[in-house]
Amino acid sequence: MMGRDILLVEDDEGVRMGVRYALEMDGWQVLEAETVAEARELFERRNFALVLLDIGLPDGSGLDLCRWMRERSSLPILFLTARDAEVDKVLGLELGGDDYITKPFSTRELCARVRAMYRRAYDIRDSEGGPIRRGDLLISFEERKILKGGDPISLTHTEFEILRLMATRPGRVFTREELLQQIWDVSFVGGAKTIDVHIHNIRSKLDPAPDGASYIETVRGTGYKWRVGE
Ligand code: CA
Repeated sequence: MMGRDILLVEDDEGVRMGVRYALEMDGWQVLEAETVAEARELFERRNFALVLLDIGLPDGSGLDLCRWMRERSSLPILFLTARDAEVDKVLGLELGGDDYITKPFSTRELCARVRAMYRRAYDIRDSEGGPIRRGDLLISFEERKILKGGDPISLTHTEFEILRLMATRPGRVFTREELLQQIWDVSFVGGAKTIDVHIHNIRSKLDPAPDGASYIETVRGTGYKWRVGE
């Protein structure tokens, strides 16, 4: 499990104190940096679970700092933005798993966002390496092995790759075109049907889940998603 250290990069002492207090009450350990230089130093010394990043810093921009961090890690970054203009810049980065919150924000909202980002980042990213347990399934991507109720299930290479894509991102809807693109790097005419056939085959091997439903939900008119489960 990932640790609970958060790097808070913010030059406004008032904001820093409020955020730190709220996060510590929520069980996080917070390390503070006031400048880009301090942040880099801390970042290189420790493994953080998450970064909270102000944009206007005394010795540089949080956006540049974000790029620098991105070259080194895929940890989640939550921007603390002050103005709409900053929001536009953050959105311009097209940051996959990252997010922003606009000042002034309530510490309650901040804590909720931090918890959500942490869960999303580590539940999902951890599971790309380690085995996934869902219902009566145990899926090990590393060993390319699937057990259902303890019995081995065999999937074709393509079925396994589709499963990997979806099961490591539960709840995310994949269109047929997207699945085609991701699995074969092409979109060919009639390809959508091919996906339906693969999904049908995967279902016939993995289903039913203990509640009788399918592990893969059909999203009408759109595509498929792996069920969010306990
Ligand atoms: Ca600032």
